Amino acid sequence: MRFTKMLVPTIKEAPKDAEVISHQLMLRAGMIRKVASGIYNFLPLGLRVIKKVENIVREEMNRAGAQEVLMPMVIPSELWQESKRWDVYGRELLRLKDRHDRDFCLGPTHEEVITDMVRRDVRSYRQLPLNFYQIQTKFRDEIRPRFGLMRGREFIMKDAYSFHATEECAEREYKNMYETYTRIFERCGLKFKAVEADTGQIGGSFSHEFMVLAETGEDAIASCNKCNYAANIEKAEARRQVSGVRCQVSGEKPLTKVSTPHMKSVEEVSKFLKVNPQLLVKTLIYDSSIGSFAVLLRGDYELNETKLKKHVPEIFNQGAVDADWVKLADDKTVRDITNAPSGFAGPVGLKCKIIADYSIHGIKNAVTGANEKDAHFINVNIDRDFKVETFADLRNVVSGDNCPRCDGTLEIMRGIEVGHIFKLGAKYSESMNAAFLDENGKERPFIMGCYGIGIGRTAAASIEQNHDKDGIIWPFPLAPFHVHIVPVNVNDRTVMDAAEGIYNELETAGISVLMDDRDERAGMKFKDADLIGVPIRLTIGSKNLENGMVEIKLRKETTPFLCKRDELLEKVKGALK
Ligand code: ATP
Ligand code: MG
Repeated sequence: MRFTKMLVPTIKEAPKDAEVISHQLMLRAGMIRKVASGIYNFLPLGLRVIKKVENIVREEMNRAGAQEVLMPMVIPSELWQESKRWDVYGRELLRLKDRHDRDFCLGPTHEEVITDMVRRDVRSYRQLPLNFYQIQTKFRDEIRPRFGLMRGREFIMKDAYSFHATEECAEREYKNMYETYTRIFERCGLKFKAVEADTGQIGGSFSHEFMVLAETGEDAIASCNKCNYAANIEKAEARRQVSGVRCQVSGEKPLTKVSTPHMKSVEEVSKFLKVNPQLLVKTLIYDSSIGSFAVLLRGDYELNETKLKKHVPEIFNQGAVDADWVKLADDKTVRDITNAPSGFAGPVGLKCKIIADYSIHGIKNAVTGANEKDAHFINVNIDRDFKVETFADLRNVVSGDNCPRCDGTLEIMRGIEVGHIFKLGAKYSESMNAAFLDENGKERPFIMGCYGIGIGRTAAASIEQNHDKDGIIWPFPLAPFHVHIVPVNVNDRTVMDAAEGIYNELETAGISVLMDDRDERAGMKFKDADLIGVPIRLTIGSKNLENGMVEIKLRKETTPFLCKRDELLEKVKGALK
């Protein structure tokens, strides 16, 4: 491809709203342009990278025995009503009506559509197992679209769904997909980790996320320094441990109210009262579809809402709650329940049910809010001063926590979730009556699995891991081109003849080449070459040509070297290996 025939609108400075490096560099290298919040055009260079990722994914999915299909983006509401997700999916689901006033949604994920497809045409256990995948555009009306392709509203996903007669068969496919994903991300040249994950809105029994390790990742991962336990922080289990501070204190002292003018945060209160934050009890008032309740946890810990949501039904002795509805109560609710402004809530005399993190268990002579402006209680004791309905693991693990599996220690690192595999079980097949006939002619629901990869997010994650101050450093498998030719002076006949010759030779050998045939200063072309990040740059200048030489510069290295013109093809082929 010739630069003058391709739209590659490189820019010097990235727009201010581009916060992460991959977003900045994709914009600057002329790969993508924003159309609306979280919605992008892929320009030619950007699309080439997307296709590279897609091809790797396609090859490996085919190799794993999955079949490619293509499902619609616009989905009739009836299917989502059958699975009961129409009402619970929340506002990420973009709903629309057709001209006959019928309800549809833009597909954020396709469990319903595929389950419907399979229940129509698959009848017998003899046809199983099956695994279908598609590479398709999804829409999720994300609350905070950001970081370019990392968290878009419209984005390309590879999603796959498998159907089985037995749990064991579904588990074998889960393992097959785990290995397939490992191969895919290895082939993409990424440094990644598979971690245990929460199953979120999709539900089901177990799941792993594939995390690309990067400082800018939105996810925190807990990883054991001794065994192979690794989990998303949303899911990472906190081992119950009794902290030193609480054990030293013996005997319950009398409950006392103290004045804490304008002191609201744990930091302010612990400094003011000169107590360790571990002796503070944080009281958070929450709202849910069943009612309000209070959550207690140790002052130095953070609440994990994913864990909390699972335990809300226990507090009220009820079945399911709508997870979207579990949220921090607004100021008015806080005032109604505590008789005080936010920041002074405490468990003593509280008019609602209480759920507490295990870290509160056995705490003695603690400090809590007094449900009164500018006041706290000291020497608060469980059972004597207040009752807890339920104890549970509700906090985020922190660096240095004990591993839940061995005697190692957890470390916290950041990651970008590029893939996610789930074993779904019969969740969708049961709700949607999707069944097959087993060996005994008995009707049974399909056992399912589902497996997603964010295509654009994978490309962006690669940039997060492969860049320097000058631009992108593409690994060969994802590079938009293998070789970038820079003829130093396009008006010099010999230079251009040589450049054209090399271009043709490489292209004929199946090596993709971008030739910068613009009539621009060499310095400026080098800058663009560094920005775009093609792995091999060839500089064609008259001086070197006179000596039968061409300059090679690898994007990931700083110093160029010379190569005989005759040996160029072999050298480039060697570098590509
Ligand atoms: P996240 O927690 O990041 O929102 P998710 O758990 O909602 O992701 P899945 O439903 O498992 O994601 O989707 C499968 C894959 O699709 C993810 O692993 C991710 O790579 C990609 N993906 C999900 N949401 C987005 C988005 N808004 N923009 C780009 N890619 C996305
Ligand atoms: Mg999501």
